[in-house]
Amino acid sequence: MAKGDFQRNVATWMQGRNGGDELGTFCTIVSFIILIINLFLHTLFLSIVALALIVYACWRVVSKNLEARESENETFVGLFGPLARWLRNPAAAVAESRDYKHLKCPECGQRVRVPRKKGKLRITCPSCHNKFEART
Ligand SMILES: [Zn+2]
Repeated sequence: MAKGDFQRNVATWMQGRNGGDELGTFCTIVSFIILIINLFLHTLFLSIVALALIVYACWRVVSKNLEARESENETFVGLFGPLARWLRNPAAAVAESRDYKHLKCPECGQRVRVPRKKGKLRITCPSCHNKFEART
């Protein structure tokens, strides 16, 4: 079987499935952290928790109930959004939080990124075009 065939087969198989998302990545990272801690602690409980997280992450990747997975991931990103950004690329997140401030539009809740230390800014929301002022 040629390499291209294999890739095509995987792509076909993945069609209509959830694939990787923030929640899945988070579960995988947490389970690896637990496994590393468990190298020293050797507890059955932590092994089971780590295994369960990996199984859950894999199950999310192949799940075909996209709506449910998407809403779970949205809830997760809503709760841990800033954290997920830090996990994805810590260096970029540091630079980002130094140079920019994240605000929420008071009308629609859309997140808006504004440069820091520019004094009082008049901001136009990109999604509902509401105008509001904020200190940066
Ligand atoms: Zn808005």
